[in-house]
Amino acid sequence: MADAVDQISALKVKDRSARLDGTILTLTIAPTLACNFACDYCYESRTGGVMKAETQEALIRFVDHKLYRSEGLRICWFGGEPTLCFPLIEKLQQQFHKLAEKHRVKMYPGTIITNGYLMDADMARRLVELA
Ligand code: SF4
Repeated sequence: MADAVDQISALKVKDRSARLDGTILTLTIAPTLACNFACDYCYESRTGGVMKAETQEALIRFVDHKLYRSEGLRICWFGGEPTLCFPLIEKLQQQFHKLAEKHRVKMYPGTIITNGYLMDADMARRLVELA
């Protein structure tokens, strides 16, 4: 009988090792620190607006520069609550795709850490399209 394989654990190990693999540029991006919740245990400042235009431009330049020596790009959206500024996520995600094409690197499916309150079918569908 073949050895049983814990496929969930195997996938977790694969995912974690890919994150630590220096050849894949892995970024966690907070487009805002604002949040529509007020959890007691929260350590976030939950203040401030949307990421400034100059910060967005610097981020794009940073990714463009780093992709010269990377084999892939993976984005995790974080906050605050990232869905509060979903149009910005759409805009930046499209720009990341263009940069991945320019550098001929793989764009790995992204992730989003969200409280889910604003998530509806349209937003979920759009995230899949932009992944
Ligand atoms: S949803 Fe997250 S960011 Fe918002 S208050 Fe709760 S813990 Fe903080």
